[in-house]
Amino acid sequence: MTPDELKLLIRTVPDFPNAGIQFRDITTLIGNGRGLAATVQMLAEAAQAAGAAGIAGMEARGFIFGAAVAVQLELPFIPIRKPGKLPIATIGVDYALEYGSDRLEIDPDAIEEGDNVVIVDDLIATGGTAEAAAKLLRMAGANVEQSLFVIDLPDLGGARLLEDNGVSVFSIMQFE
Ligand code: AMP
Repeated sequence: MTPDELKLLIRTVPDFPNAGIQFRDITTLIGNGRGLAATVQMLAEAAQAAGAAGIAGMEARGFIFGAAVAVQLELPFIPIRKPGKLPIATIGVDYALEYGSDRLEIDPDAIEEGDNVVIVDDLIATGGTAEAAAKLLRMAGANVEQSLFVIDLPDLGGARLLEDNGVSVFSIMQFE
């Protein structure tokens, strides 16, 4: 399947979770077996081209694609978790949201110093989540140079923010 065909599998829901937001729902993409396989294949090729030694995915939708890419390439998967989920002492990063703030946490022992870790998530909007993930992985010793997304919303500037932080951005499809 082509990126244009995959784009047709995304369901757009207006005004979710807030008025004015066009929610790009991947449920309908992963509900299509061929679509899911083609998406994972494209992300895995990009991860391999970037020389990934590990794949990190953000809870929750980044787990779906990130874990699948890790399996395909037989690489370790590093879950980047919402606060309070891991049963051990974690390291974390707080980051600003449009309304309020949030936090990401990882197991500090999940990464070998200097490992080339590639970030995977379903969608990049403002880039705040991925920027925090890159910061956290770097705190744990990772080398972070590449991020992969199924969807980019280029008008929100996330890709530019990540590139300014030294992280290249690959996306399969874009919604203006
Ligand atoms: P951001 O930190 O602004 O780049 O937001 C990225 C995170 O929020 C991703 O994990 C997405 O799953 C989610 N997200 C943000 N905007 C949308 C949207 N329009 N449709 C679906 N998910 C979104």
